[in-house]
Amino acid sequence: MTPGPLAPPVPLAEPPRECDLAVIGAGIVGLAAAHELSRRHPDAAIAVLEREPRIAAHQTGHSSGVVHAGIYYRPGSLKAELCVRGAAELYEYCARRGIRFERAGKVIVATREPELAGLAELERRGTQNGVPGLRRIDADELREIEPHATGIAALHSPATGVVDFGAVAEALAADVVASGATIATGCAVQSISADGRTVAIGHSRGVTKARAAVACAGAWSDRIAVAAGAPADPRIVPVRGAYLLLRPERRDLVRTSIYPVPDPDLPFLGMHLTRDLDGQVHLGPSALMVAARDAYRLRRVRPRDLAQTLAWPGTWRLLRRHWRTALTELRAGISRRSFVSELRRYVPELSPSDVVPGHSGVRAQALGRDGALVDDFVVSRTERVLHVRNAPSPAATSALALAGRIADMVEEDPGVG
Ligand SMILES: Cc1cc2nc3c(=O)[nH]c(=O)nc-3n(C[C@H](O)[C@H](O)[C@H](O)COP(=O)(O)OP(=O)(O)OC[C@H]3O[C@@H](n4cnc5c(N)ncnc54)[C@H](O)[C@@H]3O)c2cc1C
Repeated sequence: MTPGPLAPPVPLAEPPRECDLAVIGAGIVGLAAAHELSRRHPDAAIAVLEREPRIAAHQTGHSSGVVHAGIYYRPGSLKAELCVRGAAELYEYCARRGIRFERAGKVIVATREPELAGLAELERRGTQNGVPGLRRIDADELREIEPHATGIAALHSPATGVVDFGAVAEALAADVVASGATIATGCAVQSISADGRTVAIGHSRGVTKARAAVACAGAWSDRIAVAAGAPADPRIVPVRGAYLLLRPERRDLVRTSIYPVPDPDLPFLGMHLTRDLDGQVHLGPSALMVAARDAYRLRRVRPRDLAQTLAWPGTWRLLRRHWRTALTELRAGISRRSFVSELRRYVPELSPSDVVPGHSGVRAQALGRDGALVDDFVVSRTERVLHVRNAPSPAATSALALAGRIADMVEEDPGVG
C-alpha cells in the first residue's frame, strides 16, 4: 500500500483555551499518548495540537509498514522492551478495531561469511528480548520461505508483520475524539512557557494553557524542546528514505520481507524488500541526509533546516566517521542501478527493469553534538512538559507501549499528577 493523502478522520476542531493535558503532534506517538492518557484519566480535558491539516502527515504516513518483532535492539534498551510489548499490543488493538494486518514473517539474510557473526548477535539479542518464534535457518529453508532469495544462512521471524500505520493512527484519533478529547489540526505550536502552575502553549490559532504537555513532534522535536528551554543536544537531522516498487508482474520475487544483516555501527536496518497488505512489494529505503525536514522531494531545500544541519558540529563528526557509507547511500539515493544492485545480493534475479519509483519518507534522526546517532528512544523533561526527542523506527510498532511509558512519566511528575 503506497502511502497517499489520508482522509481527515476528524472535523477541524477549535483548540481549547484551557485543558488539563496538551499533546503536541498527531503522529502515531502523539495519538497513542493521547489515547492512553484519555483511557487512564477519562475526566481529564485533553487536546492534541497538530500543525498539518491532517493527522499522520509525516513519518507515520510514510513508513515501511513493518510491525517489528524486536530482534535488533540491545537487550535492556527501551527499544527492546517497548517494541516486543508494543507489537503484541498493536496486533491486539488492530484485531479489536478491525484494522487489517498480517503476521507474514520475515527473513534476515547473511550472504557472506563475515556477516555470520552479525546474524548470531541478532539471534542472541532477539532471543534475549523474547521475540516469539525466532529461529536460525539454513540456505535450503530460506529457499522454502523465499524461493528467489539467496544466502548462506538466515534468521526467520514469524512474528514480524505488516500494517498500515496511517490506518492505525486514524483509529487512535477516532478513539481519542470519542473519549471527549479534541484534535486541532492546522495548529502549529510556536512557543512554550511554564509559570509554575500551568504551561502556556502559543500556536498559530491562539494560546492553549494546560497543566501539562507532551511533545511528540517527530522531525521538529528538537525545536519544540528548545522553545521550552531544553538544550539543543540532540539535534534532529532529516534523513530521506526513498523506495522503489516491483512491477506487478515481478511481485512473485518476494513473498514476505527480506532484510539484510545491518551495519552494527548504524541505527538503520538496511534496505529491504517488503510485501505490503495489498501485495505491492516495496524496495528500500535509502538513507540520505537532506536539506529539509519534509524533503519528500529530493530537491526540497528549507534554508532554516539546512542551516541547522550544517551548523551542528555532530553533522561533520558523523560524516568524518561514516563517509564511506555516506557515499554508498548517495549512490543508491540518486542511481536506480546502484539501488537495485544493493538488493540483488539477496534476490539475484532482480534487475533495474523490474522496478518503478515508489514513495519516500523522511526519518527524524537525533544526532548528538559528538556525532553519535542516538539509537534508543529518548524522553526528557522541561517544566510541565515531556519531550519525546527521539522516536525513530520501531516507534510506530512500539507506539502503544511507548504511550504507556509516557503516561507513567506524566503521572510521576509531582507538578502534574
Ligand atoms: C522511511 C521510513 C520508514 C519507516 N519504517 C518503519 C517501520 O516499518 N516500522 C516502524 O515501526 N517504524 C518505521 N519508521 C519509523 C516510524 O515511522 C516513526 O518512528 C514514527 O512514525 C514516529 O511517530 P511520531 O508520532 O513520533 O512522528 P511523526 O509521525 O513524524 O509525527 C510528528 C507530528 O508532529 C507534528 N508537529 C511537528 N511540529 C509541530 C508543531 N510545531 N506544532 C504542532 N505539531 C507539530 C508533525 O506535523 C507530525 O504530524 C519508519 C520511518 C521512516 C521515515
